[in-house]
Amino acid sequence: MTLIENFRAIEARIARAAQSAGRDSRAVRLIAVSKGHPAAAIRELYAAGQRDFGESYAQELEGKAAELAELTDLRWHMIGHLQRNKARSVVRHVTTVHSVDSIALARELGRRAQAIAEERARRFGPEHARLDVLVEVSIAGEEQKGGVAKDALAELLAAVEAEPALRLVGLMCIPPLVDDPAAARPYFDELAALRDAHGGPERLPELSMGMTHDFEQAIAAGATIVRVGTAIFGERPPRRA
Ligand SMILES: *Cc1c(COP(=O)(O)O)cnc(C)c1O
Repeated sequence: MTLIENFRAIEARIARAAQSAGRDSRAVRLIAVSKGHPAAAIRELYAAGQRDFGESYAQELEGKAAELAELTDLRWHMIGHLQRNKARSVVRHVTTVHSVDSIALARELGRRAQAIAEERARRFGPEHARLDVLVEVSIAGEEQKGGVAKDALAELLAAVEAEPALRLVGLMCIPPLVDDPAAARPYFDELAALRDAHGGPERLPELSMGMTHDFEQAIAAGATIVRVGTAIFGERPPRRA
């Protein structure tokens, strides 16, 4: 299958999964995760109508954002673990960060976004003057993975809301890798429950959950954003250290 055929197939599977869950398919947004793939592939998907793209590494994001600068309505999403010293670069390129997992990072992003709020409004539109932020939750408590511990979530949400240049929009998680996609479902249900425990959809409208392997399970559990890479772009080349 070609890239565009893969993309259309994923769109169709998203629509079917939404329908099976009794949800409106327009309530689920696809982020095409382009990490490890060249700008040319992004250009091709953009031409097919895709606008939201996810990257996991600040440097790779910066390079592609420069290469594709003429696609002014393309929206970049930072979905990978973010170090504070990369905050300045990232806020110049992305509409949304999905992986805020500490108060220190929230403050740094807030400070950096504030400094360029006017530039962001000019480049991305006034609705993106503020940086959209999702808080990543360590849903299975795996230490090596990113995400805030569940018992520290309330404090981090408040810290994001305290930053005038940030807009809190939701929660994100990456469940443990399991063979059976159905085994990921309890983690997705738990993120939805955490959303309800911390203010519900009014405060946290977005649930960013579900990848190639398990996005249908995530949609059944209420995902509003799915992040799909491999099923669209194919396998990623191994990452050099
Ligand atoms: C790489 C990545 C994805 C996409 O994973 P696929 O399995 O290729 O769909 C989604 N979310 C995050 C946070 C990622 O790092």
